[in-house]
Amino acid sequence: MSVSRRSLLTLGAAGLASIPFARIEAFQPQAWKGKRPKNIIFCVADGMALQVVTMANHYQQMTEGKHSFWTELMERPDVATGFQDTRSLSSIVTDSAAAAGAWGSGRRQWNGQINVYPDGTKLRTLYNIAQEAGIKTGLVTTTTMTHATPSGFAVVIDNRDREADIAAQHLTNNVDVLLGGGDKFFNAEKRKDKRDLYKEFAAKGYQVVKDRNSLLGLKSGKILGIFSDSHVPFSVDRMNDVSIQTQVPTLAEMAKTAIENLKGGKNGFILQIEGGKVDHAGHANDIAGQIHDQIAFEDAVKVAIEFAEKDGETLVIITSDHATGGPSLNGAGEEYGDTTKGFASIAGIKASFGPIFDAIGKKPTASMVQDVIREKMTYGLKEAEAQAIADTIQGKSPFGLLELQKAPQSVLALILQNYHKVGYTSLNHTSDHVLVSAFGPGSQYCHGMTNNFEFFNLMLAAKGLKHENPPQMTFEEAAKHMEKNKDAVFAELEPWQTSEDCSCHQH
Ligand SMILES: [Zn+2]
Ligand SMILES: [Zn+2]
Repeated sequence: MSVSRRSLLTLGAAGLASIPFARIEAFQPQAWKGKRPKNIIFCVADGMALQVVTMANHYQQMTEGKHSFWTELMERPDVATGFQDTRSLSSIVTDSAAAAGAWGSGRRQWNGQINVYPDGTKLRTLYNIAQEAGIKTGLVTTTTMTHATPSGFAVVIDNRDREADIAAQHLTNNVDVLLGGGDKFFNAEKRKDKRDLYKEFAAKGYQVVKDRNSLLGLKSGKILGIFSDSHVPFSVDRMNDVSIQTQVPTLAEMAKTAIENLKGGKNGFILQIEGGKVDHAGHANDIAGQIHDQIAFEDAVKVAIEFAEKDGETLVIITSDHATGGPSLNGAGEEYGDTTKGFASIAGIKASFGPIFDAIGKKPTASMVQDVIREKMTYGLKEAEAQAIADTIQGKSPFGLLELQKAPQSVLALILQNYHKVGYTSLNHTSDHVLVSAFGPGSQYCHGMTNNFEFFNLMLAAKGLKHENPPQMTFEEAAKHMEKNKDAVFAELEPWQTSEDCSCHQH
């Protein structure tokens, strides 16, 4: 949908132009009260609506008889809990690039851009400042290493989709530990320019590892660990596939290796741990994908908290960059009696939506859809339900009038809602405030409402540092430059340069 300049500017004047800066003074280094942390671990469940935390807790209570780890944390008096306003410079609904950039340089940014304004003004990153102060840095993710969220702390780029360029930029970013997916951006055989980035990283002193066993046990020295061609597979697929378990470490294992590697330095470390597939499952409206990756994320948070408890000098911040998909578990049946049993059926799902759509194929009949759903999800779809899915895959969605609900993933999720009772509102990000929890020295500053860009000053102040990037650009000025530069900045890229599912900046 094209939005005219006039309407963009009108919207901006109405709302986005006024950005509250009230709390930022509280995060100046001289205003810091109490002990400062030596280390900071910033944990991000990308695209995590509050309902995902809620549903992961329900799920673990049902299947394991215990609270989820994050829910346990929120019950503790020594853990602060609040919310984050996630909006970006271009929209009330942010993408991951603008969100992570806000954390990484303290300024709201245009969706799709990382640590740069639409006029080309570059912003200095958190990790660049930290490294100058002798602080070690790390990025751990289940997406490609070059995806938006890890990039927000270290990368400056006008188009987040230029992941092949981001991989090359990491060579000069000096991040001590880089763990995630995205072999296609580092491997000479897959890069069209034939650059062997693994070799170039090794020449700079990095230990390069490409499978789980090689990673486990690595302790000292810089590490580049890349474990999959593109994003790391979903946890629900990992649970059901031994070859993935052999090849790919869990997020908790990556987090543990990173902490072991980074700890012990004179000036401490900052580490970002991202559960990036929570967002991807939200985009697919795939509840099993989302819950299992949320649990895998919380396993990694547990590693961070256990380290911080022992160490006593580490601030752990746990949050999201925005919500995705608008998931909710709905009351269903008389006295809502069908909800609990329906929700419990998610335990029978053995695959994420990707392999399910692959198995259904491009020209399915209703009975082919029924067979796949029975085998991989245990649900016996009615013929009309299966037919609706088969029709949608072949371009005849029964919800063709609904812009946000007509795609195959939406229709599959809408039909499955009859069984597991979880519904989604779209395949896109949503504007929700997201949860923030914090533990350790400085956690008191994470109470109540925090704007995303305030975490930059908070993290710098925690380390006694200060940096002012160029002033916040207004929406009007940014829109003016974007109107002029948009086609050049977001020009179409070749497949080798970007992740297959990220050709638009909606992640
Ligand atoms: Zn995101
Ligand atoms: Zn997303």
